Amino acid sequence: MPKAAKQIMEETLGLVEKYEPDKEAAEQIRRAFQFAEIAHADQKRATGEPYIYHPVRAGLTLAKMKMPANIIAATILHDVPEDTDYSIEDIEKDFGQNITNLVRGVTKLGKLKYRGVERYIENLRKMFMAMAEDLRVVFIKFADRLDNLETLEALPEKKRYRVALETMEIYAPIANRLGMFEMRGKLEDLSFKHVYPKEYLWTMSQLKERMEHKQHYIETVIRLTKNLLDKDGIQYISVHGRAKHLYSLYKKLLKYGKDISRIHDLIALRIVTKDIATCYAVLGAIHQQWKPMPGRFKDYIAQPKPNGYRSLHTSVFCENGEVVEFQIRDSEMHAESEYGIVAHWAYDETGKKETQKSQPLQWVNELMQIQKELEDKKHFSEIKESLKIDVFQNRLFVFTPKGDVIDLPEGATPVDFAFVIHSDLGNSCVGAMVNDQMVSLDHQLKSGDVIFIITDKNRKVASIDWLKFVKTRQARHHIKTAQKNKTSHLLNILKKR
Ligand code: MN
Repeated sequence: MPKAAKQIMEETLGLVEKYEPDKEAAEQIRRAFQFAEIAHADQKRATGEPYIYHPVRAGLTLAKMKMPANIIAATILHDVPEDTDYSIEDIEKDFGQNITNLVRGVTKLGKLKYRGVERYIENLRKMFMAMAEDLRVVFIKFADRLDNLETLEALPEKKRYRVALETMEIYAPIANRLGMFEMRGKLEDLSFKHVYPKEYLWTMSQLKERMEHKQHYIETVIRLTKNLLDKDGIQYISVHGRAKHLYSLYKKLLKYGKDISRIHDLIALRIVTKDIATCYAVLGAIHQQWKPMPGRFKDYIAQPKPNGYRSLHTSVFCENGEVVEFQIRDSEMHAESEYGIVAHWAYDETGKKETQKSQPLQWVNELMQIQKELEDKKHFSEIKESLKIDVFQNRLFVFTPKGDVIDLPEGATPVDFAFVIHSDLGNSCVGAMVNDQMVSLDHQLKSGDVIFIITDKNRKVASIDWLKFVKTRQARHHIKTAQKNKTSHLLNILKKR
């Protein structure tokens, strides 16, 4: 048993015990660890370390976010069906429906293969849509991605760039859209140097000179602020310094003429209180002590940002005339910036877990919005096809043996699948394998199925009987055309006689 993986595990359990008093919760996670450790026993990561480190670290990430135990257990198991000799059925035997469904959701996402950036992005986007009904899977995917980014140096340059670009283009905007601002910041910062290496080095060099001084200075301001609040009898939960995310600093520098001296939130001072009224009391105390900088006060509590962000921001002329930004928020707003708009179902204030699925309709709406934003970006200008809301609700997503996603209407069959790919494949189709099992041609497909079409090159014409069960317009059209051609071909032969 690799010692360090076990230590990460103990840390995870220590965190979970604090918000999941139920003994069964920790037990689930412990069993997931034992199972994954055996399953991945002989595997190594590209870094050379034992494979088990990766899922266990991803689990710890989610424990820090106080995610329910079943999500953490599923995270620890997330690479088992894809990368080991153990199957999803083996997991089901030991862990039951709930955890198994989460692992299955992640595995479906994992089947997407890289086949050119555009194609990959398209695939990934579709799968995020398909996952709309269970957002917990997306959390696992975020934690998985974070750890992959942390160990990115072990990969060849081209692959590093690809993973980082995907993160910037897909994962970070989705995290932002879900209101998970901390997650977005982490994803962007870890990708930044791989996607824009020159810009990254430049930003780092700008920052370096100023940071050392700032860090020391902010310690002093924290102390002064605590004294101030204590003196006024204002209660607070925490006062801490918070360095600006690097990629967001870079973008801000571009807006401010690349002049770092104009940026006042390199380190902001963050004050968390128990309620909204106290936020304003803190603001009052600060403005009485230090003069606010004109035009720099923003009340994102009364008027939240379009992405849902809430806090009070103010920049003041602090000790020695230096400008310091204060960010004041209550604990609920603080939690929201971690969990995003699911804060309320993922984990409520009492610590009681809430494992119900989020409202599917609301999520479809959210994700449609994300998709629209993605398409508005230049990078996606070539992706013309868009999924309409009514289309999406009755769609299923299946895979070719090469890992491409094909979306089909509910009730679609292997014949529909074949015709959607190519009319020749449809016309010469004689059988189908779904997830390595032979099925009949009228078999109803399910999301996540991998489909292999068996063809006979001597067969050139689709059967008219297939019209009884096909669901797609393409299949119906091609079957009729093929029949018409066959009939006119026969008529021609008869005429020639
Ligand atoms: Mn993974």
